[in-house]
Amino acid sequence: MKNAVQLIAYVDRFGGGGIADLRALLSGALRNTFGAVHLLPFYDPIDGADAGFDPIDHTRVDPRLGDWSDIKRLAGEFDVMADVIVNHISDGSAQFRDYLQRGSASQFSGLFLTRESVFPGGAAYPQRPSGEELALIYRPRPGEPFIEVSLQNGERVTLWSTFTRHQLDIDVRHPLGKDYLHRVLSALANSGVTMVRLDAVGYAIKKPGTSCFMLPETFDFIGEIAALGRALGVEVLVEVHSYFKRQIEIAAHVDWVYDFALPPLVLHAFANGTADFLKQWIRIRPNNAVTVLDTHDGIGIVDIGADPNDRAGHPGLVPPDQIDALVERIHAASAGQSRLATGAAASNLDLYQVNCTFFDAMARDERRYLLARAMQFFLPGIPQVYYVGLLAGHNDMKLLERTGVGRDINRHYYTQAEIAAELTRPVVKDLVDLIRLRNEHPAFSGTFSLEKSDSSSLVMRWTQADQFAELKVQMASAAYELSYSAQAGSRRLLFSSAPPM
Ligand code: BGC
Repeated sequence: MKNAVQLIAYVDRFGGGGIADLRALLSGALRNTFGAVHLLPFYDPIDGADAGFDPIDHTRVDPRLGDWSDIKRLAGEFDVMADVIVNHISDGSAQFRDYLQRGSASQFSGLFLTRESVFPGGAAYPQRPSGEELALIYRPRPGEPFIEVSLQNGERVTLWSTFTRHQLDIDVRHPLGKDYLHRVLSALANSGVTMVRLDAVGYAIKKPGTSCFMLPETFDFIGEIAALGRALGVEVLVEVHSYFKRQIEIAAHVDWVYDFALPPLVLHAFANGTADFLKQWIRIRPNNAVTVLDTHDGIGIVDIGADPNDRAGHPGLVPPDQIDALVERIHAASAGQSRLATGAAASNLDLYQVNCTFFDAMARDERRYLLARAMQFFLPGIPQVYYVGLLAGHNDMKLLERTGVGRDINRHYYTQAEIAAELTRPVVKDLVDLIRLRNEHPAFSGTFSLEKSDSSSLVMRWTQADQFAELKVQMASAAYELSYSAQAGSRRLLFSSAPPM
């Protein structure tokens, strides 16, 4: 991946037009800002049960947005990342409709993962999964990951459905599953996509008597996709929320992982006036990471918590009482809005995430928000900025109310006119300046160091030959100094919202 900041956006929520309009925005009002764009699922349809993560046809661009030639044109100007939704397919897909009609006689019957294909009975597993085996299965929300379906020919099947009942798990080990994923990857590569995000890949491989989450076999599977990707000229980013030590382990085996621990750690640092936990993470975190403060999902909590699969209770990056306090703090900072969008309150797929815009989670404090971004950009890895975060956006309570979908609080539909207006806000202009500094300053291609500092401060520095960039932040007061080498000596970047140290 190019060492430049990437934008994360839904085509239909960032400008309201199609792929061509988004390209015009990136090369118009946002020119010289982003080196790459992660287009959230743009397949047919973009507005299904899980905002595109439930494709009816994963090899077709939603015709309301354009077609593959528009993706190709976009990819001619910016590096493009796209999702490969590995684990499941919509129950509205042609494949499932055929299976529903013909049952085991359908040419697609092997594509759908049944409970029996994982727990087949016989000598090793004579019965259906025991209560204990079921309890071991890890899923983003409680309950069994199965649904009973009556097919039209009278057969009854029990299908795996890790997420919603409209998202049916694929048997990725079956030749049909392999062929499906191969076709998806090829369609993307043929249209110039050079990076793929393996969505929810941790759940893809199931094995009796295990958590069915991120197993050694899952690593093999990721390795196979990565090899396929490499042959097609595509890099692979693995999307897994998990215990931090597993994340480190995963990173050692794959091209790229997300740093999902960063957003809650940054919030914790500002809330508590101490950077201790954050610094502890910086010392051990993988550098082949895509850094985020916000995405289309919520703020991850499992990423800093204790190991959920370990009964011995390996501690997380932050103790449980402080995590609880942090979640409460976000609810308070957003005047209770995030509480309405989080957990069981709002049909969430992942109960362990807090839904709130990052700017509102920081109580709309512009200086701290910009410092959080600066901290993100100073960490090793490739930074991504979510479109709502780019515009320092607020919670969309109307959308939440209309859809009842918790994550919609942070998925506002911006019109072109709104974007133009938001881009004139000082906080947004400062953020764009920061992004450009991160993209253009040569020090960021050099060597990173976490400098010694007291508990309440964070000091990060990049150097390359005689070039440098340095960020000093005092967590409690949000005093800061962001300095860097320039032709006429050293310079400082000042935010319009407040004075530095
Ligand atoms: C995506 C979510 C999606 C889920 C199921 C995730 O990890 O980021 O938005 O709901 O996978 O596809």
